Amino acid sequence: MTVSLDTISTLAQHRGFVFQSSQIYGGTRSAYDYGPLGVEMLRNVKDSWWRSMVQERGDVVGLDSAIIQARKVWQASGHESVFTDPMVECTNCNARLRVDKLEDPDQCPNCGKRGTFSEPRQFNLMFKTHTGPIESDENMVYLRPETAQGIFINFENVRRSARLKLPFGIAQVGKSFRNEITPGQFVFRTREFEQMEMEFFCHPSESNQWFEHWVDARHRWYTDLGMNPDNLRIRPHDADELSHYSTGTVDVEYLFPWGWDELEGIANRTDFDLKQHIEWSGEDLSYFDPETNDRFLPHVIEPAAGATRTTFAFLIDGYDEETLASGDKRTVLRLHHRLAPFKLAVLPLSKKPELVEPCEKIAAELRKRWMLEMDVTQNIGKRYRRQDEIGTPYCITFDFDSIDDHAVTVRDRDSMAQDRVSVDRLVDYLADRLD
Ligand code: ATP
Repeated sequence: MTVSLDTISTLAQHRGFVFQSSQIYGGTRSAYDYGPLGVEMLRNVKDSWWRSMVQERGDVVGLDSAIIQARKVWQASGHESVFTDPMVECTNCNARLRVDKLEDPDQCPNCGKRGTFSEPRQFNLMFKTHTGPIESDENMVYLRPETAQGIFINFENVRRSARLKLPFGIAQVGKSFRNEITPGQFVFRTREFEQMEMEFFCHPSESNQWFEHWVDARHRWYTDLGMNPDNLRIRPHDADELSHYSTGTVDVEYLFPWGWDELEGIANRTDFDLKQHIEWSGEDLSYFDPETNDRFLPHVIEPAAGATRTTFAFLIDGYDEETLASGDKRTVLRLHHRLAPFKLAVLPLSKKPELVEPCEKIAAELRKRWMLEMDVTQNIGKRYRRQDEIGTPYCITFDFDSIDDHAVTVRDRDSMAQDRVSVDRLVDYLADRLD
């Protein structure tokens, strides 16, 4: 179903997925805070990415590089000179807008006035700060606007220490910062966000083949985690959109409430970055193949995704409303179990100690393996509705019969089918479904 931005952001705030940052001081549109459910889901998205990109492959290793790096990194990468968006300011309402995002180049989308735009200005998107006590030009540094450069500058460190042979990849998940002119669409575009990037180094003659491999693998990652393939597309960049160094780029796009928009870019970056860092650092970052006695610069395929943006897309994609046979309505977040904040809810049918106490024991056992919530408030129907709305795959209900038959009812979120499962078998039953 299609869900409005308003509905999804209200649910996210109300249930504790995402809060506006600095809300008690009026809020900022730069960033968002992830609440008890959001922090779990975001972590699950990042863990699922890591599992598929690093753990399940033998040819990719991980890295966690610093947010503040030498300024030269960004001079070498080109970010200092070209990481800019042309921007106009509306002289009527002072809105600052990206020229490439204007639907009508003459009309302000904020106030509706025509002919109010200033001349376009280049605006560098990197945040600046200073290291040490003195704010001088020499100690000016940037907060990283992408995680990728931290990988390139460690290419040789990682290759040597992990004794890697081409082809291999280096993966990284972490915060990035961009002083976006127009943050917006909830967490879609923020000034502080998280990325999941991987640089895959290969022989230049194999780069096309690896590019195809990664486009395919990355598309499959989204659909394996339950994203509706009809809401996902691969869009090749037109020639005029390509970065100057790239020989091929596609965007993985999602059908957001406002239309198709980018989730991830997959680019063939050739040897551009390594070449730049060789030039600026004077270090030799070439690769020697002992089998062929060949020395060359590897080419690089980069799948670069946004963790926060992807989490948002999974929230939208999972959202569903349905009318039950009883006429009641329910909202369900049909999240893949790997992404759901809580895998389980343990629900004693009533607040009576003879039901609550055994539930506490069951919950303590299950918590060793899965995130769960124990909920004793309200009637059972309302508690099921709440768990449906936050995407919990299974609810476990302990009722008065459970005291004698040592069995519980396990309710499936999507089908609402209920199974009676003996407490002894519960871990195995759930492991079959959740692991
Ligand atoms: P856009 O065109 O949307 O500004 P981009 O093409 O500049 O994005 P990349 O530099 O390719 O983005 O970054 C890789 C990924 O990082 C993007 O596909 C997106 O998922 C995420 N990302 C980039 N900028 C932001 C942002 N301001 N807020 C949230 N996520 C972002």
